[in-house]
Amino acid sequence: MRTRALVWFRRDLRVHDNPAFETALAEAQEVLPVFVFDRPLLESKVYGSAWVSFMLECLRELDGALSQQGLQLRWSLGDPREELPKLVRDLGADVVYWNRDYEPAAVRRDQVVGKALHEMGVLVRTFADHLVFEPQELRNRSGHPFQRYAAFRSAWWKRWQATPPAVGSSRRGRPSAQGTPVRGPVEFPSVTDLGYAPFRGTIRGGEAAARARLRDFVAGPLHTYAVGRNRPSEDTTSALSPHFRFGTLSPRLAIRAALGRLADHGAVSRPDVYTWIDELIWREFFHHVLVGYPHVVEGPFRPTAVVAPPRRTEADSLLLFRAWCEGRTGFPLVDAGMRQLNTTGWMHNRVRMVTASFLVKDLRLDWRWGERYFMSHLLDADTAVNNGNWQWCASTGTDAMPGYRIFNPTVQGKKFDPDGGYIRRHVTELAGVPSKWLHEPAAMSLEWQARARCRIGADYPPPVVEHERARREYLALVGAESRRDHGN
Ligand code: FAD
Repeated sequence: MRTRALVWFRRDLRVHDNPAFETALAEAQEVLPVFVFDRPLLESKVYGSAWVSFMLECLRELDGALSQQGLQLRWSLGDPREELPKLVRDLGADVVYWNRDYEPAAVRRDQVVGKALHEMGVLVRTFADHLVFEPQELRNRSGHPFQRYAAFRSAWWKRWQATPPAVGSSRRGRPSAQGTPVRGPVEFPSVTDLGYAPFRGTIRGGEAAARARLRDFVAGPLHTYAVGRNRPSEDTTSALSPHFRFGTLSPRLAIRAALGRLADHGAVSRPDVYTWIDELIWREFFHHVLVGYPHVVEGPFRPTAVVAPPRRTEADSLLLFRAWCEGRTGFPLVDAGMRQLNTTGWMHNRVRMVTASFLVKDLRLDWRWGERYFMSHLLDADTAVNNGNWQWCASTGTDAMPGYRIFNPTVQGKKFDPDGGYIRRHVTELAGVPSKWLHEPAAMSLEWQARARCRIGADYPPPVVEHERARREYLALVGAESRRDHGN
């Protein structure tokens, strides 16, 4: 019997090392790739223009790659719970393949779609793909999800050594292309059709860009990653996070490429390679936490975690939040980070940590405000990873930063952006400020402000809070409580 398979692309916008797609190619006589623009999700505006534009770029490239294999990507716009059964009916498919998604809302959506298809007599086949190991695969000795990264990491490596995951077509024989290239690209809705403003970031979308970046990264920046990753002015991290988010690159392939470098070239040090893989294991850990403890979506991982009470008036809080969002806090590293986010859709990890700590501990704003802002501006916005990191910075999460640890944004700037290359690139009004004052421009004399063409209060704001005072207040507000919380 001929099978007509529908492959539903979601967080896996690539043709290589894609289990659902490759299995469909190997098993079905006819393969029909589809993508659904999720109208309720787009209307919710949880994500922003950067994210939507990046997704469209990835889709255009996926369409080109599928077309090379004689396949045509079809799309629809609507609620996937209604669109999938409709596509199956219209296209006469008898089996649907997809790779699993672990976000609680996506799991609920997939259950509804699966049930509807089952009732139509259509077979559904789903696969593990987005992570190296699925969240429920790893458990602690009592059979519960892990709460500590170190223990999770050790279980993760044990599992990797016991059953190293296969990559790509090695999984089930080489899938064959289905025909001659399809002519002409598919016309997708534009970003404005989808209700968003056009956005052009600095990271290119699509599988080819992801693979090229991976090649360059493992050949270059990976060699100095353990130290270099903390330098926001340099191109020292992979900038692959949006690709992992949209699945234009599989984590299996990336980890194998890094380990392969270790085997091929003695020059790459183990700490560099393993520190990088550690970051990808953090990504897996935060998915594990989200699935094991889904209450994190709504509030703190540790309900007993103490957070400082908000500022006296809501108006105060809103003003401070606005300054933070716009990169006008008067703290150059914080402002550079927020402006990098607003203009490129990406922010360096060290600076994400500093801006998040600043929002929670200096400005005393609810970490969920920052979490939402990041979600709506990042290209790599991802519920599990964003939430996990915000909770870490807010000292409410699993391996949270201790409540008493508060980044000093000025010291962080001096330490990690010593020559100010990062700050000057993103806060252009500080470009002429001598290095001596770059991290504390408000300390410049009026004469120097004139010489540097940067008048504090006119061209660049004075600090919105006094860090030392804000730190003491925060500690006084949570100090005793956080000691009480310590043993939980
Ligand atoms: P590299 O340093 O090259 O690391 C390789 C990969 O490991 C990354 O691409 C990413 O997939 C993963 N990774 C790196 N750092 C972390 C981390 N701290 N936690 C989990 N995974 C990590 N990352 C997202 O992908 N989406 C988010 O929504 C997100 N929100 C964040 C919010 C805050 C407050 C903070 C502090 C961090 C957040 N991160 C998020 C994690 C991290 O900042 C980015 O993954 C990283 O900066 C991406 O750059 P890169 O690809 O060059 O990373």
